[in-house]
Amino acid sequence: MTHELLVIGSANADLVVSADRRPGGGETVLGGDTEILPGGKGANTAVAAARLGADVALVGAVGDDPYGSVLLDSLRGSGVDTGLVRTSSRPTGIAYITVTPDGENSILVSPGANGSIEPADVEGIFDGVKTVVLSLEIPLPTVERAVAAAADAGVKVLFNLSPAAKISDATLAALDVLLVNEHEAAWLLGGELDDPRQLLELGPKAAVVTLGARGAVVVTEDGAVEVASPKVEAVDTTGAGDAFAGALAAAVTAGKSLVEAAEHAVKVAAISVTRRGAQPSYPTSDEV
Ligand code: AMP
Repeated sequence: MTHELLVIGSANADLVVSADRRPGGGETVLGGDTEILPGGKGANTAVAAARLGADVALVGAVGDDPYGSVLLDSLRGSGVDTGLVRTSSRPTGIAYITVTPDGENSILVSPGANGSIEPADVEGIFDGVKTVVLSLEIPLPTVERAVAAAADAGVKVLFNLSPAAKISDATLAALDVLLVNEHEAAWLLGGELDDPRQLLELGPKAAVVTLGARGAVVVTEDGAVEVASPKVEAVDTTGAGDAFAGALAAAVTAGKSLVEAAEHAVKVAAISVTRRGAQPSYPTSDEV
């Protein structure tokens, strides 16, 4: 079971409820009906790539519970191979999301099974793989081990450093592409994003910074290239960064240059923000 593209990362059930306001300590607030949506950065990225036709497997873990089944069904329904998604004794990861009328989200994540993905789960999985994409929300030692093993095996490594966390210099130096949004980029550079080219001083061969509605900037040793986003009416930006990551990885795996891949990824992410949800909003290549 070899796939050209592996995604290593989280799978979560997003439990979304609207409320007039978020409850304070000791308070009970009644909200609307709960919506259960498949999410998690790893699963979102894998689904985005698979919808675009990539040959992709997710490496992850879910619990032996109904939410785990929902997530596996969504992955398989989009064409993601789930043979490397382990069933953990811990419950499926859940994101408890409250949405208020101003459109603001507050999110409490219970990582559950995602916290059980161990370095042993990423050994011996890179034969025949062209590209691997990693994100956080799973244990850092597992991610760092996977980066080292993938780089040793000659696999192209894309790391979506989201949510931002301190990673080792050796891991940064092993990356082919560091993918971050502008907040994560600023955090990495000690507070300000003045010049995205500074990201290469941290060690990766290339970097891509997503800039929300403005698109993205691609940094290689040849310099920085801005890639504008198509103008769209944004309805829900949940999972836009993961759509971008999946589309970027699918295009790089298909042999596109990083700038061409980013031009593709901004189109995919722009479509995703015009529809509600994360995975349900991701387009197929025909739509793009
Ligand atoms: P972000 O994580 O906010 O930087 O968004 C990731 C990617 O999603 C961006 O690089 C854009 O391609 C796309 N995106 C996010 N917000 C918008 C928007 N309002 N309009 C169009 N594209 C967007």
